[in-house]
Amino acid sequence: MQTERMPLEAPKQATQPGTATDSGKDSDFSILDSPRPEAASALFGLSFERLSVVCAKIETQPYRAKQLAEALYRGWIGDLGELTTWPKALRERLASDGYRVGLPEIVQTFRSADGTERYLIAGDDEKTVETVWMPEGDDGESGDGSEAGESPAVGAEESAAGPAPHRRATICVSSQIGCAVNCQFCLTAKLGIQRNLSAGEIAGQVVAVLKRQGAKIGRDRINLVFMGMGEPFLNYDEFMAAARLLVAEVGVAESRMTVSTSGIVPGILRFAAEKVRPKLAISLNASNDEVRERIMPVTRKWDIGDVLDAVRQVPLRPKERVTFEYVLLGGVNDRLEHADEVAALLRRANLPSKVNLIVWNPGPGIEFRKPEAGDAAAFQRRLIERGIPAFVRKPRGLDIFAACGQLKRTVS
Ligand code: SAH
Ligand code: SF4
Repeated sequence: MQTERMPLEAPKQATQPGTATDSGKDSDFSILDSPRPEAASALFGLSFERLSVVCAKIETQPYRAKQLAEALYRGWIGDLGELTTWPKALRERLASDGYRVGLPEIVQTFRSADGTERYLIAGDDEKTVETVWMPEGDDGESGDGSEAGESPAVGAEESAAGPAPHRRATICVSSQIGCAVNCQFCLTAKLGIQRNLSAGEIAGQVVAVLKRQGAKIGRDRINLVFMGMGEPFLNYDEFMAAARLLVAEVGVAESRMTVSTSGIVPGILRFAAEKVRPKLAISLNASNDEVRERIMPVTRKWDIGDVLDAVRQVPLRPKERVTFEYVLLGGVNDRLEHADEVAALLRRANLPSKVNLIVWNPGPGIEFRKPEAGDAAAFQRRLIERGIPAFVRKPRGLDIFAACGQLKRTVS
């Protein structure tokens, strides 16, 4: 295979304390770490059943749980004082029992010339996570067989008469602080894994951003992609709890959510058995195991064949396609013979699929290069000629380091 400049180890100068080394073989990619225990007093993030338990504890009627859920997940209250459907005495009882709303807060905003906004959102400790709002999305959902991939409806644009009746946007959500997977082209990998986010911290990013944007579920076409910092399937329980909460309480349709994984097979197999689940995207990024192993050491644990076998277990909805993401790295995986290999691989896999090509976004200390002008389009054409639907993701918010793989720029 034609390869050029494929570092086997993260460049030394960019390695920070706590950063994972190239250890795909030895790493324990365990799914079940829990978030920090102090998050327990936050109400935001609790399922309706757990809110009912809280209500029972403070000896109030079961209907109060419904009001509480409504205020947290539809009313987006910031503190208990705003829980106006409850009498003051009852709110005080809740507070004196150690509960607070605990909706994550946006502490810093970076705005791009293209309208994209990147936020630092504070959870329960001093650490922040990154979340991105992309007006009009980045075409990532195109052609995946769901309503999220449709073009905006007529009238969705802003006109001189005033704001649009509804808007279309994609929110890119983080699932961990840092990441243990150590993909060689990704900036988040440089952080190593710092901690898992709780369900409340994951779903809370969505609500904090919707609140800031004045967006409304139902009226606006909001898509969610779990493609920010971290590997969602290495924080499986909290990630899925957040997804369930977003569907059941916040009201986001599951067909408007996509989770991306680097190919954590036990996570994909659990996902296959979920009743409610987002759409699935797999970060393929290479056309064979040899190249993939070098850029994604996790391939040594689960190779492409293992990942595809697991994906085949996921019962797809009518018209649904699995998205395969493919970051184009100049001279490494972006030649037409790689496109042929990807097409052959996906045809053999016999899965309804589509490919999202992503032009690699550079980051400090990462020694790859972008594909040459025209190479992404040529790669896309080749895949389409070979019968594989392919799209090139629009880079969003490059000037504020909000694009794929650029999250946690602020750390350096
Ligand atoms: N950890 C998950 C989800 C977050 S990464 C995963 O890897 O799938 C989201 C996407 O960004 C992945 O497809 C990844 O391959 C891509 N990505 C990472 N670093 C990138 C970079 N520097 N430029 C472009 N895409 C990148
Ligand atoms: Fe982690 Fe995804 Fe980055 Fe790989 S690409 S290091 S899995 S965030």
